[in-house]
Amino acid sequence: MTTTLASTVTIADIVVPGPFQAPLSYCLPPSGEVLPGQRVRVPLRKKTVVGLVTGKRQVSEEEAGRLKPVEAILDEEPLVGASLLAIADWISRYYLYDAHSAYLLALPATLRNGDAAALAEEEQVALTVAGEHLEPGQLKGERQQQALSWLQAHGPGTPSELRSQGIQRPHWQGLVKKRLARTEAASASPRTPVGELKQPPLPLNDDQQAALDALRIGQFNALLLEGITGSGKTEVYLQAMASVLNAGQRVLVLVPEIGLTPQTLARFQQRFGDKLVALHSGLNDRQRHNAWLRAKTGEAAIVLGTRSAVMTPIPDLGLIVVDEEHDSSFKQQDTLRYHARDVAIYRARQSGIPVILGSATPSLESLHNAQSGRYRHARLQQRAQGHRLDRLETIDMRRQQHQDGLSERLVHRVRQHLDSGNQVLLFLNRRGYAPSWFCTACGWMADCPFCDARLTYHRSRHMTLCHHCGYQARPETTCPDCGSHELMPLGAGTERAEEALGQLFGDVPIIRFDRDAITSAKTLDAQLSRTQEAGPAILVGTQMLAKGHHFDRVTLVGILDMDAGLFSADFRAREKMGQLLIQVAGRAGRGERAGEVVLQSWHPDHPFFEPLLNQDYASFAQQLLTERERSGLPPFGYLACLRSDSAYPKRAEQWLGEMAERLLATGEVRVFGPLPAILSRRAGKHRFILLVQCQSRARLHAVLEPLVRDYPRQHRQVSWHLDIDPIDLM
Ligand code: ADP
Ligand code: ZN
Ligand code: ZN
Repeated sequence: MTTTLASTVTIADIVVPGPFQAPLSYCLPPSGEVLPGQRVRVPLRKKTVVGLVTGKRQVSEEEAGRLKPVEAILDEEPLVGASLLAIADWISRYYLYDAHSAYLLALPATLRNGDAAALAEEEQVALTVAGEHLEPGQLKGERQQQALSWLQAHGPGTPSELRSQGIQRPHWQGLVKKRLARTEAASASPRTPVGELKQPPLPLNDDQQAALDALRIGQFNALLLEGITGSGKTEVYLQAMASVLNAGQRVLVLVPEIGLTPQTLARFQQRFGDKLVALHSGLNDRQRHNAWLRAKTGEAAIVLGTRSAVMTPIPDLGLIVVDEEHDSSFKQQDTLRYHARDVAIYRARQSGIPVILGSATPSLESLHNAQSGRYRHARLQQRAQGHRLDRLETIDMRRQQHQDGLSERLVHRVRQHLDSGNQVLLFLNRRGYAPSWFCTACGWMADCPFCDARLTYHRSRHMTLCHHCGYQARPETTCPDCGSHELMPLGAGTERAEEALGQLFGDVPIIRFDRDAITSAKTLDAQLSRTQEAGPAILVGTQMLAKGHHFDRVTLVGILDMDAGLFSADFRAREKMGQLLIQVAGRAGRGERAGEVVLQSWHPDHPFFEPLLNQDYASFAQQLLTERERSGLPPFGYLACLRSDSAYPKRAEQWLGEMAERLLATGEVRVFGPLPAILSRRAGKHRFILLVQCQSRARLHAVLEPLVRDYPRQHRQVSWHLDIDPIDLM
């Protein structure tokens, strides 16, 4: 009975770029120690890459002898603390994705690339007095003219901002040589509204006070704060934040992608001054680098950011706020498909701190957690300021003259409101709901002959298809009910409506809010201030308009078409549609004037609309929860979506078919599909989807894990991915 006391050696686990499920092992450099959270340079294949140390282990000398050594240590201190490393590890396991991607969520691009973790000097290009007064036409080069006029119109810009405008370094350097411009140090801190004082807290109303009292500081608890737009949720956040800051702790605030407007930022700055940094997609790499360092060193007391900010290192974090928690932009839709709200809740639990989830229209997941007692639930019943809304009015499209998706009645109402000097907001729902094939004369819709389900229209093949049984048919060209030939996919009229508006109200400014008109925080800013300054005007837009912007002068909200959500094969479509409807309606009457909301529909008496028209989100959500419970769908069951893409549709479908068999053989899960995705062709590839459903999260993970392990992401001319807790099923 002799045990050989083989001497052991310390080695490091290090995440490196690449499709590796777990960290790789390296032996320590001869020079010494590495610490978890430090960046290092390590050899990988024939290259040297930047990696992040995630942990250390003891192994036998023999095993260590087979490992390559760390080449260099990049940081003196760990950049990422132990608790964030643990969260990254959880993300990688939970979403079944490369460890590397999960860990690197915690670092900005500059640090991933190996830049020094020190504040970077920022440079910006500004005009000299001569440059400000020179007529661009007097310059020779067209490029330099362009650079000059951009700087004259927009003020100083960083080189990367200029590049995004098509202005390259040689062009603005030409101006510098001519002494028309110079470079100067730029501030990385967020734009601070000038002349505004720190604003004292408002006296809370009873509902707000009750909400604040429901939150326990210094321990993990989740508070679902439900209240319509304008009910004072933000004031509750601000006061909860104040008490955490007073205790010397820091706060992380997450907002949806397009929620971090200058308006939002200004509100936090008015209360807390410049103690905050903002992390959003409008920052260039260097600004993001600096903002990240200010968060990490604790110089910033508040970090306000979008999805990826959830993994920012923040010392002494005391509270996380997730605003508009139901918003689908918290879910990343490619590569590592994590949900920032869910990561935030996990982070709060690991850190033993409270998290507030705020929304006018909470997700069914959060409502369910509140109802089952896992979260506390506070409701703000009244608008803190401003007018109440009356019942929404519906316009029955079957009984109206209409053209290009605009009913006579709606046009009439728009005119009335404009004539009284007000602004009107028209909402176009272009979101990719599975569209039905329908008759614009009578509202008839194509049904599956075999199932109690609507057919879904697939534009790429010009086919209607049943998502339950797979039945396919060419879309009808003549309506079987009324004989009309005006058939089209539901919702397709809305884009034309936008054009038609211009012709109907030619003299009235039409201000657009959608992905085409708004490409950056700057253009959003510009459209918002245009709206502020305009007299009577029509604001036209998509989801973007439904979010937290304040439009004081809007008195009429018109919703052109929300019917597509009624019959979609995507079970989440109804939830999203109801949330959108409530959010859009909330845009009316926020200022001194009363608001009205009208909704055009082909199915105005659909029972689904009833609670929504009364702005009763609670009953609406209850209806959906009952349905979901019956069918074992989230939040009562767990889902994953497998998607495959291939240039060869047969292969993509076949591969998912094999996966389906393999999954079914476990006897643990139900599968639906494979079905072609709604947008079944993208970039020349055909996409198929397979839904996997299970009543236990652990069992779902257990059957999916081997797939990720056994099949490379590119496989027999098929590329595939797995989406845990999918938000978009199409
Ligand atoms: P939400 O975040 O729910 O949309 P806000 O917090 O933005 O609501 O509040 C809407 C408006 O009401 C804001 O102008 C805010 O300053 C004001 N407000 C909020 N709470 C109070 C309060 N207790 N007393 C007076 N005004 C308030
Ligand atoms: Zn018809
Ligand atoms: Zn069918």
